[in-house]
Amino acid sequence: MQRSEGLIDQRGRGSSTVYRCRFLGYGEGADLWLPASQISEMALVAWRRGGQREWRQRQASQPASQGYTLVTHRPGTPCSSGRGRGGVAIYTRSSLLAGDSLAASAGPGSVEGLGPNPCGVHMHCRQSFVSAASFTAEAGRRAMHGLRRRLAANGLEDPMLSMRAFKTYVLPVLSYGAEIWAPQLILQGKSAAQQVQLEHLRGLLGVRDSAPALTVLAETGQLPLPIYWTLQLARFVRSLQRMDGDRVARLAFMDSIALAATAETGLALARQPWAAQVGLVFEAAGIPSDLADGTLGMPELTAALLARHIDSYAAASVKVQRYIESVRGGSVTAQTYGPASYMTAVPVRRHRRRLAQWRTGSHWLAEETGRWQGLLREQRPCPHCHNPLEDVRHVVYDCPLYAELRQEFGDLFPSTGIMPGLAEFLCQDSQGRLAKFADRCFDAHAAALAQ
Ligand SMILES: [Zn+2]
Repeated sequence: MQRSEGLIDQRGRGSSTVYRCRFLGYGEGADLWLPASQISEMALVAWRRGGQREWRQRQASQPASQGYTLVTHRPGTPCSSGRGRGGVAIYTRSSLLAGDSLAASAGPGSVEGLGPNPCGVHMHCRQSFVSAASFTAEAGRRAMHGLRRRLAANGLEDPMLSMRAFKTYVLPVLSYGAEIWAPQLILQGKSAAQQVQLEHLRGLLGVRDSAPALTVLAETGQLPLPIYWTLQLARFVRSLQRMDGDRVARLAFMDSIALAATAETGLALARQPWAAQVGLVFEAAGIPSDLADGTLGMPELTAALLARHIDSYAAASVKVQRYIESVRGGSVTAQTYGPASYMTAVPVRRHRRRLAQWRTGSHWLAEETGRWQGLLREQRPCPHCHNPLEDVRHVVYDCPLYAELRQEFGDLFPSTGIMPGLAEFLCQDSQGRLAKFADRCFDAHAAALAQ
């Protein structure tokens, strides 16, 4: 059977059930009643997943003369292959009655939009988007671990290379079909897919899971996944906007927009039409856009998304604020947003990690380890000199344990004896020496504790 088959009815019970199949381009007269054994699994799955329920609802609510004709149903698109529970169904009315009102319910299982021709495309994920998203996140996590293994096996430790490879190999897996399912995840914020991205970046930096997401993103100069998804969504919308008027995808797009205009307001996000969800995404990005008129500017959108990301640092947690204060010199700006210089300047992975740990606060000093024991910040003393707080500043400037190291790495400290702020110290040009100093401090600390 052809891919374009669709099931529209069924009768009988159990093993004697037969299904009414309709074929693309053929009318009612060409329908066939066939047993399950003669029908492709895809069509059956589509029918069982949703078509059947819609059919029951129609049977219950409408006279037979107003039935819909299922023109085509493509199960599996566009959400994902495998377990994705999405589908695009295109319906047309077999007999459109004059003066019919729009059946403008957008919930899963409903038929969207009515018009004279292919009149409604149902862009949806059945059940919830979360199931499709967690599936892509799982696939993405496997891809990410595979990538890490391959890079390690080939001795490739360059974090910049790893981030580029992530964008090439893992991001497409995490974003597969995001045009359809991402609006909800973008608006809701956190998602399993984002955790995959953060896990990768934390692995690169050598910091713990407790290192805040905003800190990790700022260190590596990466943007959160929802930004990539929003841009992907925008590109998709632009291609729909530029499409010829008679293409089915274009008609579906216009239908979804029309439906969004008539749908009830106040519906839960998942129950809103796709176009309404997309509208909310662009609104949240600060670029409200009329989807129908095709004026979505990508440069403006990109800039707006970056600006919103930067703004999020102002309202971040205390730990992120401390990072901004003591490492970034007080602010994170769009102009300077990018990978920290040590990511390219420090070739030795171990050195790079020690410096990253200092910078992100995910280090081995009492300031961090005392937090796990629930100690107040003022009660996390240095185990070597009993200063009330063992933090990076204490190690760099004050603790007597590292006096010799400070002399050995004298080039890192100004000869005037006036010590710069920690941000200035950490951002100085000789990142390679600095990272080595951090690594030697770690060794000295461990050796002193072992005695
Ligand atoms: Zn000390």
